Amino acid sequence: MQVCRTIPEIKAVVREAKAGGSLVGLVPTMGFFHAGHLSLMHAARRECDLVVVSLFVNPTQFGPNEDFAEYPRDFDRDKELATKEGVDVIFAPAVEEMYPPGYQTYVEVEEITRPLCGKARPGHFRGVTTVVTKLFNIVEPDRAYFGQKDAQQALVIQQMVRDLNMNVDIKVLPIVREKDGLAMSSRNVYLNPREREAATVLFRSLQLAEDKIRGGERDPARLRGEIMPTIESEPLANLEYAEILSIPGLKPLNTLQGKILIALAVRIGKTRLIDNTIVEVP
Ligand code: AMP
Repeated sequence: MQVCRTIPEIKAVVREAKAGGSLVGLVPTMGFFHAGHLSLMHAARRECDLVVVSLFVNPTQFGPNEDFAEYPRDFDRDKELATKEGVDVIFAPAVEEMYPPGYQTYVEVEEITRPLCGKARPGHFRGVTTVVTKLFNIVEPDRAYFGQKDAQQALVIQQMVRDLNMNVDIKVLPIVREKDGLAMSSRNVYLNPREREAATVLFRSLQLAEDKIRGGERDPARLRGEIMPTIESEPLANLEYAEILSIPGLKPLNTLQGKILIALAVRIGKTRLIDNTIVEVP
């Protein structure tokens, strides 16, 4: 497996592979790999000839009071895990390689970045769409792999690709969870044992919501009212949002019908966790 630190290096690797007719797959990540990341690499390995994993903790998607500096990093461990998944190249640029002095261009998707994490983290999606556009321009992948764990992010990327006529096929893969249901996240390492236990409240709330819908609940406000007590019953949990929105438009609903997203953001102590489920309501 090869490691590229600069844009000319990765471009040369991709150019050579493409000249040989290779189908190129890209898995964009911020590193500190877990089974969720590995599932994306696995799918890319199955479907593509050249698998590129980008590993870049992107400063432009973090707010001024967020965890950019503390974000967990372990390059050697990540390299070993990616090697085991059969990844061909890790592209791990320095911040100055991606944003050299004088950098001033950003990509913004409008409507669907406004609710959920867009509201809670102003500027976050602008950073995400900017870095993903740059990665697409640098790597020119035929396919790129994202996780449903970041459901809004996946929708935003798909919107951007459609709107800007980008030549890349976006694949969205299911959420990988721990045995007790907690969605895998690099940020889970921030949790102490008490918080780790409390963190299952996200999955438990989503399961309750799915049960209620299966039981015939069709009123979004009432459904929200039914999941709130579960979150509030967890003393270490602080709700940031619990929203039920349409897919793919992320609009509020009058009645639960069709494809809907139930999305949660909860602070457990100082750690912000997100989780979601997509339900097809008959
Ligand atoms: P990150 O390194 O957190 O930016 O995540 C990189 C990619 O992995 C994103 O497309 C995420 O949606 C995806 N991802 C993160 N956690 C999970 C998970 N638990 N299951 C599936 N995909 C995930």
